[in-house]
Amino acid sequence: MKQLRNYIGGKFSNSENYDWIKSYNPANGLEICEIERSNSKDVDNAIRAAKEALPEWSSKTFKERSNWLIKIANGLESRIEEIANLESMDTGKPITIAKDVDAKRSVLNFKFFAGIISEIENQVFEMEDATNIVVRKPVGVGALITPWNLPLYLLSWKVAPAIGMGNTVVCKPSELTPLTADLLMRVIDDINLPPGVVNLIHGDGEIAGSSLVSHDSTDLVSFTGGTLTGEKVANSSSKSFKKISLELGGKNSSIVFSDCDLESTLEVVVRAGFLNQGQICLCGSRILIEDSIYENFRNRLIEKVEGLVIGDPSDKNTEIGALISKEHKAKVLSYVDLAVEEGGNILTGLKDETPIGFEGGNWMKPTIIEGLSVNSRCSTEEIFGPIVTIHPFSSEEEVISIANNTDYGLAGSIWSADIEKAKRVAKSIDSGMMWINTWLHRDLRVPFGGVKKSGVGREGGRWSLDFFSEPMNICIKHN
Ligand code: NDP
Repeated sequence: MKQLRNYIGGKFSNSENYDWIKSYNPANGLEICEIERSNSKDVDNAIRAAKEALPEWSSKTFKERSNWLIKIANGLESRIEEIANLESMDTGKPITIAKDVDAKRSVLNFKFFAGIISEIENQVFEMEDATNIVVRKPVGVGALITPWNLPLYLLSWKVAPAIGMGNTVVCKPSELTPLTADLLMRVIDDINLPPGVVNLIHGDGEIAGSSLVSHDSTDLVSFTGGTLTGEKVANSSSKSFKKISLELGGKNSSIVFSDCDLESTLEVVVRAGFLNQGQICLCGSRILIEDSIYENFRNRLIEKVEGLVIGDPSDKNTEIGALISKEHKAKVLSYVDLAVEEGGNILTGLKDETPIGFEGGNWMKPTIIEGLSVNSRCSTEEIFGPIVTIHPFSSEEEVISIANNTDYGLAGSIWSADIEKAKRVAKSIDSGMMWINTWLHRDLRVPFGGVKKSGVGREGGRWSLDFFSEPMNICIKHN
């Protein structure tokens, strides 16, 4: 069995005395590898290595660090196929998504931040008798915690701007999906990035993750994950006033007006509901449909969803893969039971859809539920699986009120030919991001993050540069 080791101070750990956590392929339940179950001592070692590397790394120029990011991007790019295969095996997601989204965008993240970091200049504010120079300094040692749904993509989204701005980091990927984090460490090792700049500890969140975020010597925490975990992370990191960014859960609406382009709307609303088995924080899991087209849209939606190809994640034609774990599948299915209790009508789904040869995996048919109150738990709580609820609406005011009727405020999409109306509705929704006539259309320069229980702070573009640095003003009095 392959054993994945921590990467600390430029070396893969050679400890012989470890407890191991087994990692499974979600599509067939077979063991893939074991990872070290790191404890607080491992976390101490990783943080010490990051601290030791900080003075030299932070004294490099932006251009020098940008060149290192490009080397990492090139190293990843030469392994695109390997990344896609590992990510698909580790998460159960279809190989096409693993390649087009996870693998390619991870490379892009490093290239993008290499580009914007190399353009950073000090800001200067002149006064009559003095000059102010605002310089950006690194924050220090960063704790980067990532979830299992987009493992390498989200890790690269944090590592690139963090080290680009001169910080050194300790990464803690989800114990459920360690393979591509390990690959990133191998790339970093191959290009001889100075030891200690990027460190990685494997292990579970409750022990390794929480020791990392509560450690006195970590200066910043960038966390992506569930809202409940985010609350724990915020509590444990607040004691030492660390800089913190939280990217948390979502319960996003796809708002379909009667004047939309039906075919393109249907296609993308289905994608928004079920991409990555609905396990993306940006997924549109509530579909709000204007009542004059409700019946027709609903029937076409069922038809489309029933046509999604479920099967072997390594098959290029597969559109729906497996859920991440047995525990997560049980949680998602419990919402189907709850929907029935809450008066919902299951329009499609529920049937066992395990592909032949994948009996040990975590499979579930994409499910559509109608007839639920807009206040029901199923239509307001994050389920994070292949379930959408559908609801009719009759006015702009009503749809805004339904969309805002949740503790979350991450994203959403609006479908209409009337762009002024769509913009008006978008601005009225309490959300960090809204798309009009599109979904998951990402420009890496724009702010990413949510309001309410979807998070604190923004990452993306210059917002990442701001989060991963501290501005310092130097005021020079003229003679
Ligand atoms: P979790 O919150 O369970 O875990 C996220 C990460 O935190 C994992 O690495 C986990 O480790 C670690 N962790 C768990 N407990 C602690 C702790 N006490 N202290 C520090 N770290 C801890 O989320 P999931 O992995 O289940 O991911 C799904 C969630 O992530 C969804 O709610 C989704 O909406 C959200 N998400 C948000 C995004 C956004 O940008 N807003 C993007 C993607 C996902 P381990 O897994 O090893 O326990």
